[in-house]
Amino acid sequence: MTLHIYNTMSRKSEPFVPLTPGKVNMYVCGPTVYDYIHIGNARPLIFFDVVRRYLEYLGYSVNFIVNFTDVDDKMIRKAEQLGSTVPEIAETYIGAYVEDRDSLGAKAPTVTPRVTDTMPEIIAFVADLVDKGLAYESGGDVYFRTGRFPDYGKLSHKNLDELQYGIRVEVDKRKENPQDFVLWKGAKPGEIYWPSPWGDGRPGWHIECSAMALRYAGETLDIHGGGQDLQFPHHECEIAQSESLTGKPLARYWMHNGFLNIDNEKMSKSLGNGVKVREILKRTSAQAIRYLMLSAHYRNPLNYSDEIVRQAENSVERLANCRDNLKHRLAAVAKDMPAVPAEDDAEITARLEALKQEFEARMNDDFGTPDAITVWFKLVSEANAYLQRPVARENVLRELLDRMAEMDGVLGLLPPEAEAELPDEEIDALIAERAEARRSRNFARADEIRDLLAERGILLEDTPQGIRWKRK
Ligand code: AMP
Ligand code: ZN
Repeated sequence: MTLHIYNTMSRKSEPFVPLTPGKVNMYVCGPTVYDYIHIGNARPLIFFDVVRRYLEYLGYSVNFIVNFTDVDDKMIRKAEQLGSTVPEIAETYIGAYVEDRDSLGAKAPTVTPRVTDTMPEIIAFVADLVDKGLAYESGGDVYFRTGRFPDYGKLSHKNLDELQYGIRVEVDKRKENPQDFVLWKGAKPGEIYWPSPWGDGRPGWHIECSAMALRYAGETLDIHGGGQDLQFPHHECEIAQSESLTGKPLARYWMHNGFLNIDNEKMSKSLGNGVKVREILKRTSAQAIRYLMLSAHYRNPLNYSDEIVRQAENSVERLANCRDNLKHRLAAVAKDMPAVPAEDDAEITARLEALKQEFEARMNDDFGTPDAITVWFKLVSEANAYLQRPVARENVLRELLDRMAEMDGVLGLLPPEAEAELPDEEIDALIAERAEARRSRNFARADEIRDLLAERGILLEDTPQGIRWKRK
């Protein structure tokens, strides 16, 4: 089976065919950078990282765009609260987000555009909508004329009447229609602003994604993703703006992750700092967090609790132990391996190939990470059984490690390997350099070398015959 993706638009699993063969343009709505991210935000961060990694595994070249919302109402409020400025708040929390993203083992996206760096494109986009009669200026704001886009509601499967009912007609005199949404907001006194044809102001929330997708990917994305809360109104508004302007679909596949709950309860503001990713990472490994996020299918709700974290730690430890045992065994057998293949090498290779195919089949079924993890554990059983044998063979150990590295390349559940041991020659060379440093009375360098060796587990001993070393 080729890769199939459940498309929120059609509500069906569809074979994945990108617009341009071999290339994928993928856009995921990113954070508003006014606070540290919480464990719920880590779900789309980790899941869409895996989507990107798997597409690369399949051989696609992926242009992965994640925006930073670095100006909006929440940013302005936070700056007021702290007596700071919007750009300062943005700098702080973009830095924190990047640190958290790296700590969680998510690869950096290809582009991470900021709203404040996309102002000319945003203003041009809004101006085009106004020129076409799809948007109107009113009291310094600009609104999208929702009635001009008959497909409004097609993603969230709501119709205009339902939406109208939902809004309960908050009367806003500036709007022609209650469902019209803001593209450009006139600045209130004291607020950060950019000059525009409609006066000083800043963009509404939805327009940035339409403008950035157009700038960094073109008229049609292959995949557009985000949390399920973004389907309406955010993605619906992106579709209205983009599609009414270009006449093309904004995205071929719409993907939405389900929500993470804590102890089976919806996350709420009162949870405070304890649920911030950086706090959790002080007591939990990044691999366990990734495991936990990937152990439920991305469209299902996911529960987070201390017990589930503990189980996740155990599971990733089993994966890591297996890798480490294979590596140790490999180091021991490499030198005296018989050259002729053993009788069942081909059988093992065939079984490992079958596991690789099974792993791909699970991932091809709408990124079925829980089942893909189960396949990884089958590989662990295969490896553990092999390690029981009195004679292990280099080629088989390498195959086991390669299959494991392939799965890890997609899911990222193994901790980085401990540093390799220093080879004997390198140790001898460092000791010679240290002796020379002492002779020339460069004691600082001599001490530095001693420390460096100690860090790598090498102990030095002064003897009448000269320096001797041993591994700890
Ligand atoms: P926000 O902080 O609300 O701007 O959200 C940033 C991203 O995290 C969006 O894609 C949200 O859909 C997603 N998100 C927020 N809370 C959760 C949660 N509890 N579970 C899963 N995703 C979430
Ligand atoms: Zn967006």
